[in-house]
Amino acid sequence: MAAPEPIGVIGTGYVGLVTAAGFAELGSDVYCIDIDANKIERLKQGEVPLYEPGLEELIAKNRERMHFSTDIADALSNARLLFVAVGTPPTYSGDADLSAVHAVVAAMPASDRHALVMKSTVPAGTGQSIKRLFAETGKEHFSYVSCPEFLKEGSAVKDFLEPDRVVIGDDGDWAGDAVAALYAPLDAELVRTDINSAEMIKHASNAFLATKISFINEIANVCEATGADVVEVARGMGLDDRIGPKFLQAGLGFGGSCFPKDVTALKQLAGNSGYHFQLLNAVIEVNELQKRRVMQKLEKHLGSLVGKRVGLLGLAFKPNTDDMREATSLVLSARLQAAGAHVVAYDPIAEAEARKLITGVEFAPGPLEVADGADAVVLVTEWDEFKQLDFGAVASKMKGDLLIDGRNALNADEIRAAGLAYEGIGRGA
Ligand code: NAD
Repeated sequence: MAAPEPIGVIGTGYVGLVTAAGFAELGSDVYCIDIDANKIERLKQGEVPLYEPGLEELIAKNRERMHFSTDIADALSNARLLFVAVGTPPTYSGDADLSAVHAVVAAMPASDRHALVMKSTVPAGTGQSIKRLFAETGKEHFSYVSCPEFLKEGSAVKDFLEPDRVVIGDDGDWAGDAVAALYAPLDAELVRTDINSAEMIKHASNAFLATKISFINEIANVCEATGADVVEVARGMGLDDRIGPKFLQAGLGFGGSCFPKDVTALKQLAGNSGYHFQLLNAVIEVNELQKRRVMQKLEKHLGSLVGKRVGLLGLAFKPNTDDMREATSLVLSARLQAAGAHVVAYDPIAEAEARKLITGVEFAPGPLEVADGADAVVLVTEWDEFKQLDFGAVASKMKGDLLIDGRNALNADEIRAAGLAYEGIGRGA
């Protein structure tokens, strides 16, 4: 069988690198482009500049098919499909900042044999406006495909190789079929559709998942007021196959580089088109309040937090990633310091990223050092290593006895047996 066609990947962040390594694994030569010369140099040296389980191994395995450069010409001369995976962060207004996407669009030459394949998350209508831009600048034969990415940091390699579905939105020219052919070996459910709908599938999916999280967090808050246990409630709800068990874990709110910005971008997109998306306002507000609820729990047990030593277990926005974007720990550490507490924190992987974003926090070398002399310890990110902690040892190190399980990830009985006071999220009276 002939090897699959070579491709270009523009942007070598979480999505770009995983996509590049994934297609290299499927047999394509992949030309990876980034404007960050330092990142490209590290990749050329065999270093992987971000933490994602299994990625380093996949890149090492497919090294000879992966090419790294800062020059877009290297991708244009070797590949006709150019996957775009540049960042689309929020602007001050909450709209998606498409400046990196537009920089890529502007760098494309007139061509009738190339296609941009948009992996970056962009608002519905972006593809059509890029096509219009191409037409206005004499590049009307440049093809365009929307192929939104659904991978999850922490399991991104597996998500690439075993996707729930692959969405391909196109105008019916060669490029949509060429992208479908690349994904064919994965045997995934293909959703072939128009460009606007493909873009909307991505935003609607993330907004729905965020809604599920805010919903169960509100249920948790009502559980606290009524003495019910949200873990039991979610178990009973999740067995209804119209609901399903996933994304029903109450906690300290969602963070990360996708949910917060994508929910806000969809709200803005609706607003810009004259529609007031009421539900999403609530989803965002509930999430912001949820990140702060730990403060009330701490004050309930400790009174004033002035001079109190509070330990944070985990800083990354979720386990198995070093990504700190929109992490709950950012809000929590700032709120704690504003209330006069001394914050000590440990994260197995994300400390280097956290140091760039968090000030005034003491970084500890391990979980027991976090507990050392602490009035309270808060589990913020449910890394496996915290689930296996010796809580007897934690208790003996602490000055106080309060352990707040911000992700309902720990065994409450075990913690109480160790002599600690356990507080989860929505775990009843
Ligand atoms: P990232 O910030 O990790 O990586 C973006 C990369 O693009 C950076 O390396 C940056 O240097 C590079 N870049 C910026 N401008 C460029 C240009 N003009 N030319 C070449 N390279 C350029 O971002 P990410 O987390 O990989 O996200 C990328 C996109 O994918 C976003 O739109 C995001 O919403 C979407 N997405 C992300 C995830 C996720 O879990 N991270 C999941 C699904 C979709």
